Amino acid sequence: MNASADTQALRAAEAFAAETAEAAEANKKAKKAAFEANKLSKRLHRQVGQAIADFNMIEDGDKVMVCLSGGKDSYAMLDILLNMQQRAPIKFSIVAVNLDQKQPGFPEDVLPTYLKSRGVDFHIEEQDTYSIVTNLIPEGKTMCSLCSRLRRGILYRVAKELGATKIALGHHRDDMVVTMLMNMFFGSRLKGMPPKLVSDNGEHVVIRPLAYVAETDLEKWAVHRAFPIIPCSLCGSQDNLQRVQIKQMIRDWDKQYPGRIDNMFTAMGNISLSHLMDRKLFPFASMRATGTPDPQGDKAFDEDEDCGGTSGGSGIAVQTIKLDLA
Ligand code: SF4
Repeated sequence: MNASADTQALRAAEAFAAETAEAAEANKKAKKAAFEANKLSKRLHRQVGQAIADFNMIEDGDKVMVCLSGGKDSYAMLDILLNMQQRAPIKFSIVAVNLDQKQPGFPEDVLPTYLKSRGVDFHIEEQDTYSIVTNLIPEGKTMCSLCSRLRRGILYRVAKELGATKIALGHHRDDMVVTMLMNMFFGSRLKGMPPKLVSDNGEHVVIRPLAYVAETDLEKWAVHRAFPIIPCSLCGSQDNLQRVQIKQMIRDWDKQYPGRIDNMFTAMGNISLSHLMDRKLFPFASMRATGTPDPQGDKAFDEDEDCGGTSGGSGIAVQTIKLDLA
């Protein structure tokens, strides 16, 4: 073999080695992605199952009307419920409903095509609420309040016509925390978005099976499942700025202090009425000393309250007072 043939052979060997390394790297990445997707899938299904069980959202024989907007959350809800329907120990049926509000540019064929591909029973309700809202609301004013009121009324009617026993909405954990903060910041009340409620007309039970799910997980799931997302800005209405700001705020907090959104969310189900100040819910006026020690009772001067120094300092101060008194 001459020198030139040697060089060619060496180059071919190097190219082969590079290709092999590349293929190995790609294989490793694909395995990691599959592993992560599997973990995400398990987490989502577990959290939805848990929320359904904790709040008795779906019962044997229920017909669940899954409201589908074409956004990532409602696609994920439908997807997960369809999977769970196959394995659930109870029998329930699903009907997907989309309200086509006749917003300009709404791609009418996207949802029916997707729903047919999933083999799910569905109904598209066509109602031109867009024209009603744009005619009634002056330009530049927010249309969402009237729009959602109209949508709600239509969906209740459709649920009745379809014989649905539950109406499922795609709100998730972050929506619930944001709603609670918005009510506190702008409405001066401690009120959130419940996982289950009776509709304002008293006729329907509304459920939120994604109550325990983080929005970031839904974003990843939507990419993984390649949902044909319909943009939510077709109506031309500005997003509710306050909601957007609060959402950003809790995401920033969560980055800085991981787990903060979860803690706020958990707090919503872990309430001490005696430690708030709603006189309608707790009989502060009639409170009397019981004379009986209660290990679970309130420790009025320590732990919960900060003396302005470190928490350790607060504890020591109380200890000293006790010793002095003795
Ligand atoms: S963003 Fe548009 S579609 Fe959504 S509630 Fe507001 S006006 Fe209606």
